[in-house]
Amino acid sequence: MADTVFGKILRGELPATFLHQDDRCIVIRDIAPRAPLHALVIPRKPLVSVAGATAEDAALLGHLMLVAAKVAADHGHGAAFRVVTNAGEGAGQSVPHLHLHVLAGRPLTWPPG
Ligand code: AMP
Repeated sequence: MADTVFGKILRGELPATFLHQDDRCIVIRDIAPRAPLHALVIPRKPLVSVAGATAEDAALLGHLMLVAAKVAADHGHGAAFRVVTNAGEGAGQSVPHLHLHVLAGRPLTWPPG
């Protein structure tokens, strides 16, 4: 897998605002926030997207979802938040390292663009 901006952040080579860190993932603030809370949950394992995950990653994917919900709740948005992951350029993925967007703090319409 190609190196990415998230790989650099994971290795401490680029700065970021950290909201959470554990042995399996980090959570940082998005550099171009689309909502008052816009966090990125990024696994340390360099998966390109959820499309490349396997059954071996099931526990990791579950962990990422639980961390996403905790981050929303910890920031006062436990009652209304959105978790999104883009898989593939056609779906809007610009960084080819799996990440969950956590968005909250404004009305979130459906469907997303
Ligand atoms: P996606 O387009 O789904 O791949 O999401 C990538 C996200 O990473 C975008 O929302 C970007 O604003 C965000 N991003 C890119 N570079 C950085 C960075 N250095 N620090 C924090 N977020 C970033």
